[in-house]
Amino acid sequence: MQQFKMLINGRLEDSETTIEVINPADESTVARCPTASVEQMEQAIKAANQAFHDWRQTPISERRVQLILMANALRIHKEELATLLTSEQGKPLDQARAEVDYAGAFCRTMGDMRLDPSLLIDNNKQRVELQRQPLGVVAAIMPWNFPLLIASYKIAPALLAGNTLILKPAPTTPLTTLKLGEIIQSIFPPGVVNVITDNNNLGPLLTQHPDIQKISFTGSTQTGKAIMSGAADTLKRLTLELGGNDAALVLDDVNVEDVAQDIFNAAFINSGQVCVAIKRVYVPESLYDRMCDAIATLASRAVVGNGMDPTCQFGPVQNRAQFDKICHYLHIAKRDGTIIAGGTQPDQPGFLVPLTVVRDIKDGSPVVDEEPFGPILPIVCYRDLDEVINTINCSSSGLGGSVWSSNLPRAESVANRLDTGTVWINQHCAFGPDIPMPATKESGIGVEWGQQGLEEFTALKVINIKRTPTASQLRQPQTTLRQ
Ligand code: NAD
Repeated sequence: MQQFKMLINGRLEDSETTIEVINPADESTVARCPTASVEQMEQAIKAANQAFHDWRQTPISERRVQLILMANALRIHKEELATLLTSEQGKPLDQARAEVDYAGAFCRTMGDMRLDPSLLIDNNKQRVELQRQPLGVVAAIMPWNFPLLIASYKIAPALLAGNTLILKPAPTTPLTTLKLGEIIQSIFPPGVVNVITDNNNLGPLLTQHPDIQKISFTGSTQTGKAIMSGAADTLKRLTLELGGNDAALVLDDVNVEDVAQDIFNAAFINSGQVCVAIKRVYVPESLYDRMCDAIATLASRAVVGNGMDPTCQFGPVQNRAQFDKICHYLHIAKRDGTIIAGGTQPDQPGFLVPLTVVRDIKDGSPVVDEEPFGPILPIVCYRDLDEVINTINCSSSGLGGSVWSSNLPRAESVANRLDTGTVWINQHCAFGPDIPMPATKESGIGVEWGQQGLEEFTALKVINIKRTPTASQLRQPQTTLRQ
């Protein structure tokens, strides 16, 4: 069985304790993963603080080069990383390969961004310059849905800005991140990136630690709240990318056949385990039956299985706890609606859930109001557009949403009324390293990606210089007065 080690202060380290990492497709053991002791976590934090001194002085052009080397290394190790990702996360191998490509693209694009000082005021009284300073040590606490992509899009902006990093993956998907640590060991100076793994116990300690300046967290809203309260004592900077309950709002002028496939893709991507996947669809009464049938047909034809099987289109749910949660929502879906695709899990080892579509379900059901974070899609019928916009906005989530229409001005006016960080029109889940992803309400605080996402890893600093007037400038007013 493959061995995995943590990266602490530039060295690959074992630990005294380990946990088993399970393949969600069949519940076999992929490998054992080290779990850092509190002492090892302290060593990583100390190393990151020591490395910060030199790393922040390293010209940004050199930091940029090292991020490009990381992107190149991802490309070289693509097959190995993708296979590991499928084994521990469950997604089909071609999608794991795409995740490795995306991770490289985020490194390249974010690594190419600029943090130049800007001039706010420059007159005869003062010169005011705005600078962006690194924060210090950042702890990146990550979930299990896109381990490699999320690690990369936290590494790139944090390091480009001159910070050093502690990466802590989720305990159910630690192996790809450990492999990444091994791959980048020779690229970054010791201590600049540290990878430590745990058994779900180190997050609160990182959050409260006085020598960590920022937490960049992606995960559940519940954990985000715990982090916010844990970070209060040290007033840490926080970026929290949390849960979503994205609605797709279909207007009555769409061509059902045109949009059903796109809505289906954006709902079941990564088996629904995406923060900005479509989690609920609102369809006008006039199109409701046709839309339900079209999406249900696509779901029924989909191949769900072991991601290593080349015919597989959708992998399992990632872990036992999430599987149990989805089974609970399936139970509620049967109670509150009509299941028109999927609905019954196969009786075999692994966390396979067929793509499930639910109709005749209403707001107020937990399947609609909450975020199952799995392959279950409720389709809600609406009659009144103003009412449905209001209902969508009542959600405590505010990550993304989408409007589907053949009339663009109409779609834009509806999009302007949705209270979410991103509103897509005639697409959903379309993102990239140069497009910021902000969150509203309980979906998070701050922004990931784009220039704004990069700036979240910095502190704004003002340099304010008094201009001493020259002798001729001092004489100038008197001359004017005499005239
Ligand atoms: P989670 O919150 O349970 O765990 C995420 C990470 O937080 C793990 O590394 C875990 O060890 C750590 N953690 C757990 N308790 C902690 C605590 N008290 N303090 C600090 N760290 C702690 O989330 P998950 O189950 O891994 O992911 C699923 C959820 O994440 C879903 O709700 C989903 O919407 C959300 N998510 C959001 C985004 C986004 O970008 N908004 C992306 C992926 C997942």
